[in-house]
Amino acid sequence: MIAYFNGQFLPREEIRVSPDDRGFLFADGVYEVIRAYGGKPFKMSEHLKRLARSLKEIRIDFPEVEKLAAVGEKLIAVNNLGEGEYATIYIQITRGAASRKHTFPDEPVPPTVYVAASPGISQRAKIEKGVKIILVPDIRWTRCDIKSVSLLPNVLANQQAKEKGAEEAVFVRNGKITEGSHTNFFMIFDGQVRTHPLNTHILPGITRDIIRDLCRDFKIPFREKLVSEKDLPKAEEMFLSGTSMEVTPVIQVDDWKVGQGTPGSVTVRLREAYKKMLDDFRKS
Ligand code: PLP
Repeated sequence: MIAYFNGQFLPREEIRVSPDDRGFLFADGVYEVIRAYGGKPFKMSEHLKRLARSLKEIRIDFPEVEKLAAVGEKLIAVNNLGEGEYATIYIQITRGAASRKHTFPDEPVPPTVYVAASPGISQRAKIEKGVKIILVPDIRWTRCDIKSVSLLPNVLANQQAKEKGAEEAVFVRNGKITEGSHTNFFMIFDGQVRTHPLNTHILPGITRDIIRDLCRDFKIPFREKLVSEKDLPKAEEMFLSGTSMEVTPVIQVDDWKVGQGTPGSVTVRLREAYKKMLDDFRKS
């Protein structure tokens, strides 16, 4: 596979990251994951806008973010990923390599920029059948709106989910449900879709925005409101959203079933609408 590293297109195995890279030493960097369908990146400009915001929030100066759209497209082409159903573009930018100290480098160093493309893994079976989640304490920092590569709490939570036979771990902060380790989380109460408000406790998901718009189009009530963990068993339906997970029904939480233990009707409507949007995009 060919990847992009600091201005060059190279075989991925030839890329050498410095041991002084602040991404390696401090997780001092941010990232994005974009899905391509039929070779075409979906919502690229939205992802790049979020990347630019993440960079600004952590004060990495990289004005060329928009140029990464062409880099992603080139990687799909040179790696022959255009024919496959899915491909994934991964972008990571760190504060660069400098001798180790906590403060930013005294002399400015160029950020490290890495972009790779790979065949996407289909989540279709899980999206159709629905998945189990577990609830875990949200031990993350309070800037979860920044897509930081510092993902240790997310890694530990997702591993815990895997070990319990679940697909995702959903975080609970101060008794309120926030989001999944790599997804946003939605609950349905009395036919109303509820999700955590956009603030520094969750990532502003690109898929989350699409779900909000689909709800508006379908006249499904959509409310950004905190939900207590203790109210969760009253939810009729639940689902996860994310670039790869699309709209994935949740049918079990820890050891109890959600509704009838099958994907709920509002969820299925949104899941199918999202899928149709992707199919139309692929064909466009
Ligand atoms: N929340 C977290 C913590 C994530 O890591 C992700 C995606 O990686 C999401 C939500 C979903 O965001 P998106 O829909 O943009 O993929």
